[in-house]
Amino acid sequence: MTNFDLDKLLSGNRRALAKAITLVESRLDTHREQAQDILEQVLPHSGNSIRIGITGVPGVGKSTFIEAFGLYLIEQGKRVAVLAVDPSSPIAGGSILGDKTRMEELSRREEAYIRPSPSEGTLGGVAQKTRETMLLCEAAGYDVILVETVGVGQSEYQVAGMVDFFMVLMLPGGGDELQGIKKGIMELADALVINKADGDSEKLANLTRQQYTSAMNLLRHTSFWTPRVMTCSALKQINIDAVWGMIVDYWSMAREANAFDGKRAQQNRGWMHQLVNEMLLLKLSQNPEVKRLLPALEESVEQQELTAFAAARQIIEML
Ligand code: GDP
Repeated sequence: MTNFDLDKLLSGNRRALAKAITLVESRLDTHREQAQDILEQVLPHSGNSIRIGITGVPGVGKSTFIEAFGLYLIEQGKRVAVLAVDPSSPIAGGSILGDKTRMEELSRREEAYIRPSPSEGTLGGVAQKTRETMLLCEAAGYDVILVETVGVGQSEYQVAGMVDFFMVLMLPGGGDELQGIKKGIMELADALVINKADGDSEKLANLTRQQYTSAMNLLRHTSFWTPRVMTCSALKQINIDAVWGMIVDYWSMAREANAFDGKRAQQNRGWMHQLVNEMLLLKLSQNPEVKRLLPALEESVEQQELTAFAAARQIIEML
């Protein structure tokens, strides 16, 4: 990318942003190299945002919530980027998360940028691309980054590891097992937000909030923040401002406790280690000698002529 394009990106030009994201998502080595070059240049301009992860089972109201929340944030003078981590998309034949048709009004707004999940690769790969896209969006001036994922697999761990604040949307009523939410995810949550607290469901939503408040109190807490449980209605736009108020509280408490930058630093360190693992595996799988000798080694291990340990050591020594 020429400096001119970089300036365009930094000034918030959507086309320059889209072009940079396309390079980040590309599988071509030349594009990846260009992308890394751009990322290095934008890095000093990134990071000035609040990164919010949103998860929840299909139907809980994620897109309705993001639409309402995004429009509210725009009213507050923010620019909002919506990204998605959807590892299931290659199977489904297209991403359902971050789909513009699901957030029609928001997608029409100049202050919003909506990007569906990268559709190819392993979960780790998809998450990596989303992380990089997040940096590009920050450099382009988006000050709230919403990262959406479905809370039914492993993707929410990846998303929790790349955001400042991780929020689980839930339905009124039913235990967490009924809602398909695993206990591990509850432990990651900075907030549980019970959506659809409107009409006939409002009472049940309040009861659910009480139940989850007790359940959450039994879980771990970081020193400065106790996870909160609240209700909202994305459809009727009730309590959307309160959700933002909670995140602002978190932000200022984290800053006060000197924990905000520390969390990001820790995430970056974890990301680096993850990349080292992935790069090593890739290097190994592409090594011609490994490729040549692997079938014979596998055979020897199967036939118990060689221990798994000895074979693994031989493979590693080929690097
Ligand atoms: P997603 O699959 O998690 O993205 O869920 P959607 O946003 O597509 O919502 C699923 C359904 O729930 C849609 O029919 C929405 O209109 C409805 N819905 C979403 N939020 C609310 C809400 O706050 N109250 C009510 N009553 N319905 C809602």
